Amino acid sequence: MSLSVAHAMNIDLIHNPTLGRIAEKVQAETPVDENDAMTMLTTTDIVELGLIADYVRRRVNGAKAYYGVNMNLNYTNVCELRCPLCAYSRDEGDADAFTLSLDEIEERVRHAVGFGIDEVHIVGGLNPALQLDYFIEMLRRIKRVKPELYIVAFTATEYDYFARRSGMSIPELFRAMIDAGLGALPGGGAEIFDPGVRGRIAPRKISGARWLAVMREAHRAGLKTNATMLYNHIENPGHIADHLARIRELQNETGGFKTFVPLPFHAENTALAVEKQSTGFDDVRIYATARIFLHNIPHLKGLWMYLGEKLAQVMLHFGVDDIGATYHYEKVVHAAGAMTEDVGSEERLRRIIENAGMTPVRATAAY
Ligand code: SF4
Repeated sequence: MSLSVAHAMNIDLIHNPTLGRIAEKVQAETPVDENDAMTMLTTTDIVELGLIADYVRRRVNGAKAYYGVNMNLNYTNVCELRCPLCAYSRDEGDADAFTLSLDEIEERVRHAVGFGIDEVHIVGGLNPALQLDYFIEMLRRIKRVKPELYIVAFTATEYDYFARRSGMSIPELFRAMIDAGLGALPGGGAEIFDPGVRGRIAPRKISGARWLAVMREAHRAGLKTNATMLYNHIENPGHIADHLARIRELQNETGGFKTFVPLPFHAENTALAVEKQSTGFDDVRIYATARIFLHNIPHLKGLWMYLGEKLAQVMLHFGVDDIGATYHYEKVVHAAGAMTEDVGSEERLRRIIENAGMTPVRATAAY
């Protein structure tokens, strides 16, 4: 690949010898390994690490930074699993349990179309009262409101549940969903793949291996997906390096991941006893390492709503090329105590990007 001056990396600025070797690999387009990931996840030389991440970011995305104009649709908070990591779920019969009717969903989407959304992002709990028809009809009705709306719907955990309850295979299920209007998958539920960590934060959720298997089928069905990682709880850098390695491995096989999305965990209102608060260095190291390690995934999302606007903006120079979307009606992360407002205006998102010296580009998950 020929590189313009703007894409060049001044390796002389990197004084840390181990980061220097990583920079040389990256320049030669040699994939870094898990030992390199451990170095990057623990270094205090974050400016030097940022030079490498920014080089990869500009090689893939130039100065473009993406944002979306979307709505979140959280259709129910009733969930059979009640994962310790979750502040959002409720038991059926709880005073604040809810399940939206199809009419209510249609009404919300119609309302959001009024302020110009391009995309509907749908996730919810595993609610035994809901049959497959409800989900198929949900997608159809959204498309009837506005056929151009791009639908990004349901995590691998939800698809696994729908398949088990309906008796359909995962490939059959994806065919039915695509036929009803599904565009892409949001990539949630990955958490941390390591079984020891997963057994404590989400013991009843599908395993990491099953999550990857469902995503493999989504990619085979022609669906592009995100991949997420929940950090800032009980994981250590080794668990993060392992998580990244398994995502990169599946990407080498399928090429179906469009975007990687690290999600900092918010402990408030969850059953997980975590006293850790990620530091600014932790966040920067994780995003920059993900950008460098996942050389085969085009986009890295740093959600302003999770990171806060200020850190999300800084991350645009540490590998991030997508700051997330307006998220009208977002409920999940705010249930866990995120302090950001639950909706951003398009103007505000563009200003965050422009102010960081990047070019804002309005996009959907189809980019
Ligand atoms: S994280 Fe998802 S699967 Fe787990 S309890 Fe919450 S809604 Fe249910």
